[in-house]
Amino acid sequence: MYGLMMDTPLLISDLIRFADRNHGDTEIVSKTVEGDIHRYSYRDAHARARRLAKVLQGLGVKAGDRVGTLAWNGYRHYELYYAISGMGAVINTINPRLFPDQIVYISNHAENSALFFDLTFAPLVEKLAPQLKTVKHYVLMTDRAHMPKDSAIPNLQCYEDLMAKQDDAFEWPSFDERTAAALCYTSGTTGNPKGVLYSNRSTILHAYGAALPDALNLSAYDSVLPVVPMFHANAWSLPYTCTMVGAKMVFPGPHLDGKSVYDLIEQEKVTLSAGVPTVWLMLLQHLSSNKVRFSTLKRTVIGGSACPPAMIRSFQDDYGVTVFHAWGMTEMSPLGTVGSLKGKQAALDKEARYAVQAKQGRGIFGVEMKIVDEQGVELPWDGNRFGNLLVKGPWIAKGYLKGEGGDPLIDGWFPTGDVATIDPDGYMQITDRSKDVIKSGGEWISSIDLENIAVGHPAIAEAAVIGVSHPKWDERPIVIAIKKPGQDVSKEDLLKFFDGKIAKWWMPDDVVFVDELPHTATGKLSKLTLRKKFADYKLPSN
Ligand code: ADP
Repeated sequence: MYGLMMDTPLLISDLIRFADRNHGDTEIVSKTVEGDIHRYSYRDAHARARRLAKVLQGLGVKAGDRVGTLAWNGYRHYELYYAISGMGAVINTINPRLFPDQIVYISNHAENSALFFDLTFAPLVEKLAPQLKTVKHYVLMTDRAHMPKDSAIPNLQCYEDLMAKQDDAFEWPSFDERTAAALCYTSGTTGNPKGVLYSNRSTILHAYGAALPDALNLSAYDSVLPVVPMFHANAWSLPYTCTMVGAKMVFPGPHLDGKSVYDLIEQEKVTLSAGVPTVWLMLLQHLSSNKVRFSTLKRTVIGGSACPPAMIRSFQDDYGVTVFHAWGMTEMSPLGTVGSLKGKQAALDKEARYAVQAKQGRGIFGVEMKIVDEQGVELPWDGNRFGNLLVKGPWIAKGYLKGEGGDPLIDGWFPTGDVATIDPDGYMQITDRSKDVIKSGGEWISSIDLENIAVGHPAIAEAAVIGVSHPKWDERPIVIAIKKPGQDVSKEDLLKFFDGKIAKWWMPDDVVFVDELPHTATGKLSKLTLRKKFADYKLPSN
């Protein structure tokens, strides 16, 4: 027997239509590439998204076609999110920080028929255009005044000119909610990037999940600044979730240094922001060196890579901002877990609460998790045993575009490539990425645990721990660290700092101080680059 409720499809266009109706005057503020501040409302954004859908039709874009973007977080990118998916086409957000070869690969693989890009990326597009085999239309996301005088980009068109030629008399079509909406490629540290294809349905369900009180807890009361880029994993769904709940949105454009982010947070009374640890490192440095504080920021979501406990402490103890540690991946839309506390933990002492917050968090309803051993046998949720983490749910990928990489699922579960523990309260903690875990004498050492301890030292700004080969133990950990400006610590003292915090055999064999650490296109420490660089590293004990 079926229920008797309406089968209304879950469509992305409904989000912006709803925001227009219910939060019509709520602001969307953007710091533009050109540096000025642009303001308008959900009502204006909806009208412009409809107008843009007509522009896309005019360019010959049809349902199912892919349209690429190379753009920062800003209102035009937001309009593209809604116009493209709303008309039944697919927005392929491309990460401009990828190697040019990868950008070309992605655009060709996605078969983008048009490419929309910010001014910043005009020189890049000019260089790549001859290799972008499927792109017929190049649209620069700017107005006439900022169009380059001479550019080798073929058929270069101006976004605002195209918009000016249309009106907003466009009705969003209705279609099957499983229709593809957005396409984001994994950064492909090994092999080619693979396309994760989100549907309208998965996007809406994920937005509901993300908005829940124990997840991002977003509401019409909030002013939200997504530092996480719209070009990677949909800025953790914020452009959808904020629209769903009618939160004010504040887009930073390319201005991501500590001072710019801080100033924007203050000016726009931001209550919640989200980003990867490296960005917050810059922000915290700006706060401490300028002795400034936040007046409105209450919460920050930190994820993408492990948030060091020292960062959680600094935000909470020094600045009164609650940290929500989150974990996810492109293949998961991306949210999987968020580290919010339960009522029963409120009574715990501070250290115990911080220990809970350092974990990556509890699954959001919609994300099922399990950990398994090497043989695939499920492990208990005891907070100690760690194993490969598998996930399942309606906003998790079941395969990649064009079947690349084969069927990734194991008995219907998606293997995350992460190694984790889960405790009896459901809090998951990442031990490591399976490829980063250090294998020493047949046992595993967590590089994340060692990094967290290293950055807990007052003189250390950032640290990476990798395994280097050892004739007897297979691999041994070394710490590669950056000192904070004006601070000093010796190799021996840093190693002493680990004493008593870890098992003896986890003790790093060496420390190397550097001025800079390599990061991936998504802002994570690039362990791959470090492993290559230190491939022949001679340990002092050898
Ligand atoms: P990439 O940036 O490599 O293309 P993703 O952005 O999808 O891919 O990264 C997903 C991976 O990032 C996860 O599988 C996990 O290893 C890591 N990650 C994400 N959030 C966290 C976190 N809070 N703590 C530790 N690792 C994390």
